[in-house]
Order: sequence, then C-alpha cells, then structure tokens
Amino acid sequence: MATLDDLPIRDDLKGQKPYGAPQLAVPVSLNVNENTHRVPEEVAVDIIQRLAQAVLDINRYPDREFEGLRAALAAYLGGGLSVANIWAANGSNEVLQQIFQAFGGPGRSALSFTPTYSMYPLLAQGTGTVWIPVARPDDYELDARFVREAILENKPDIVLICAPNNPTGTPVDLEVIEAAYEALTLASGGILVIDEAYAEFADGRVGSSLQLLEGRERLLVSRTMSKAFAFAGARVGYLAADPAAVDALRLVRLPYHLSAFTQAAAEGALAHSGAMLAMVDDIKAQRDRIVFELGQLGLKVFRTDSNFVLFGGLKDPDEIWTRLLERGVLIRNVGIPGTLRVSAGTERETSAFLEAMRELV
Ligand code: PMP
Repeated sequence: MATLDDLPIRDDLKGQKPYGAPQLAVPVSLNVNENTHRVPEEVAVDIIQRLAQAVLDINRYPDREFEGLRAALAAYLGGGLSVANIWAANGSNEVLQQIFQAFGGPGRSALSFTPTYSMYPLLAQGTGTVWIPVARPDDYELDARFVREAILENKPDIVLICAPNNPTGTPVDLEVIEAAYEALTLASGGILVIDEAYAEFADGRVGSSLQLLEGRERLLVSRTMSKAFAFAGARVGYLAADPAAVDALRLVRLPYHLSAFTQAAAEGALAHSGAMLAMVDDIKAQRDRIVFELGQLGLKVFRTDSNFVLFGGLKDPDEIWTRLLERGVLIRNVGIPGTLRVSAGTERETSAFLEAMRELV
C-alpha cells in the first residue's frame, strides 16, 4: 500500500498534518465549540419543507449569486448592509480560504496573533502564502500599540484578527481593530480580516467590527452560522465587506459553490433567527458557570467572550483530558502548555464536565 510519501505532492505540503480535532462518539462532546443545543422543532419542520421544495428543482444548478440567502444575512446583520455587502460559502473556513486565494498566494504573506485559530496557518500553507505568527503577550490580550508595531514591522498582505479569539476566548477592543486597519493601510495597503465566528456570545462590552465597515473598503468581517445558530452541520459561513471585496471573492469561488439545499436550509434558519438564537443566553450562562467554578478549583481561567473557556494551571493536561474522556466527557487539548479548552454545553453537559473536574483536580 502506498503512503503519502510515495506520492508526488507539492514539496511545501510534505510532512504537514491535516486539521484533525478528534470526532468521537461520547455522551458529552465539548471539544470543537459547537452549539450543543438542537435546532428547535418548529424551525426544523420549516427547513424540511424548504428542502422538499428545493428538491423539485434539483436538476438545475442553484442560484450562483444566492441572492435570497444574502438578503436574509444582510437583514440579520442590520446596520444598513445590503446584498452587495454580503458573501457566503460552505462554512467560514471556505470564506477564509477564498480570502487567501484572492488576496494571498505566492509572494504574499498573512499575519496573525498566536495562539489563534489553527486553520489560519493551514489556509496559508494551502495557498502558498507566507505565514507570519506573532506571539501574543502572556495573557493573550491585544492592545493597539502591540498590533500596530507588528503590522508596521512585517508589512503583511493579510492580517487576521480573531475576535473573540479562538482558542483563548479573548475579546478585542474596536480601537485595536481601528489601529490595525490604519497600520495596515500605511504598511502595505493589505486586507484586514476580523473573524467574528463567536461574536454572538460576546457580553456586549466590546462592539462588532461591523460598525467599522463604513469607509474601510479593505476591512472584511467574517461570521458563521455554525456556532450561535447551531448550524455547524449545514456548513454556512459568511462575510460582510465593501462590495468590491465581494467582487474579489467571486473571482476565486467555484461556480455554484453553495448548493440549493444549503441555501434553502440557511434561509429557513434565518427566517427564525429569534428561535435559533434563543439558546445563546443559556450558553453564556453555562460559560460563566464554567469560568466561576474552575476559578473556585484554583485553576487559571482566561477572559472569554465566547462559548468556550481556556483554563490553565494544570500539571498534566493530557492526564486530565484522558480521565475526562473515561468519564464520557470530550474536551480539547489545543497544545498550549498546562491548559485545556472546553466548550459550554447544555446545563446537563456542563454539570457532567464540572463534576468530573471536581473529582480530578
Ligand atoms: N473561525 C473560527 C475562529 C473558528 O473557531 C471556526 C470553527 N471552529 C471557524 C472560523 C470555522 O467555522 P465554520 O467553517 O464552521 O464556519
């Protein structure tokens, strides 16, 4: 049997590892920041009806411009955004990949502040873009001066800021985003991507970068339906930006990349955004409970504005991870020494995690 090494893959892909959070069948799965609440039944019924309607025309290619879905996304985001400002793809991973394809590539570079979302370096790699990781300070917080200096020094073509940041949960003040945009304009005229995959879980003290779009044609704000909308399996990510940036992504997308089923399902979910987002407050309450209770156990808990918590002070995170798994609780070791990351689940799942932690720590 052949191995990867026997194949003539590109030199720069040799020895690389694919993205690979474990997918295990366990009672309590809190390892990939999913929304562990199911889609409400009345919404599921509406989505099924829309899928049934879509299947009748499935012999035809779908609307390549998915204008119905873009209008629904624009209405959800509000703030005067229209169809021309919105783009979408199969998960925000694909949106991000299209950004790398359009604005990165050979001879270009992308910078982000690490630890951050593990797909950024893989997307850089896959598109032949030079990856520039800039290590965050010890508490993972970003300030305007730090970000400005890193950008002026490295002059990247793309800057990615994950807000709130995965895997640390750290919120990012809008003045930091403004400073990053200004510095990038000076340094290279590059593209600033704010990845707001977890924006709906924020406690409201820090605003969304959507507020900064006006007059900043190189600012791209990426969002997803995977997290707050409990729609991870449907694969719908989207972006708000100046219409010119949307035109750029059209140059690299595959024709008809969003299937008729995906469009129909996402429009159905957005028609019920209130019901779909009803669980967000509950998830935030479970997150706050995790923050409080892990703190009580004497662990170091990092500031989080997301649906997950990074905690440290563990002598042997692998040991704790394994013992939790034995108790049916799957969380994530993201490779930051002494830490683990857990997603907030339902009340029952969160209790199972916390009970196990009380026994183990
Ligand atoms: N950005 C961040 C920060 C994420 O954590 C994730 C998923 N874990 C994504 C983007 C991609 O999510 P999706 O492709 O499901 O939209």
